[in-house]
Amino acid sequence: MIATQNCIPTDIAVDRSTERVVIQWKDGHLSAYPFEWLRSKCPCAKCVRVQPQSGESDALPMMGSGIGKKSWKLRNMHMVGRYAVQIGWEDGHDTGIYSFEFLRSICQCDGCSAGAVPTVSIDP
Ligand SMILES: [Zn+2]
Ligand SMILES: [Zn+2]
Repeated sequence: MIATQNCIPTDIAVDRSTERVVIQWKDGHLSAYPFEWLRSKCPCAKCVRVQPQSGESDALPMMGSGIGKKSWKLRNMHMVGRYAVQIGWEDGHDTGIYSFEFLRSICQCDGCSAGAVPTVSIDP
């Protein structure tokens, strides 16, 4: 488990050239989240309903018809209290509130994905 006090960002940057949100954590950890990945993990009630209820899946949720790649562009992001950010997307969807604890838990870096998700080792 990740200690809650480590789930505090010291810096949050939206890098539009690489289309990623980059978070520097208090414990020195650095996380980078592609916009698409964040959108697919949108924790709002509307999106969660179409995501698998149990188990981890990399499958993108079905977001209804007519939503193209454009809607995965991040339009704006702002702090919600001291514990979360709200992200607005190009298609107008802006109900997703991402707590820092949640963001930290979905960190995709090698270290986190190796530790958090049991995977088949490719090393001998
Ligand atoms: Zn959503
Ligand atoms: Zn990580």
